[in-house]
Amino acid sequence: MEGPVEMNKNVCLICGYNELEEIPYYSYFAGSNEICPCCGFEFGVDDFDCDEFDHEGLTDQEIVEKSHIIWRKHWIENGLELFNPQIFSPEFRNGKFLKRDYLEIQMKKNLGLDFNDI
Ligand SMILES: [Zn+2]
Repeated sequence: MEGPVEMNKNVCLICGYNELEEIPYYSYFAGSNEICPCCGFEFGVDDFDCDEFDHEGLTDQEIVEKSHIIWRKHWIENGLELFNPQIFSPEFRNGKFLKRDYLEIQMKKNLGLDFNDI
């Protein structure tokens, strides 16, 4: 990054929303317990409580990463329902759902993820 502006670290690791109040994880994967207003993931809860895979033998990092992939997939499959639609400008959403075009841009820009690779 150039210049005095620090890159925003308060980025949701699932959807790329970049205006979280806190960073998603502190040391040792201690979650912030903030719920992303975009995808609805709660850091520190929806990762370690995710029961869609066996956590045994996995590191905290592996559990966290796996839960993110699962949440993202479900969220996309379910049509990108916004947890808190009111804070999103109507141009970025269809009612309570985020527009897919906007998600693609958000994920690319803030997470470096290509929507088509997910
Ligand atoms: Zn999110």
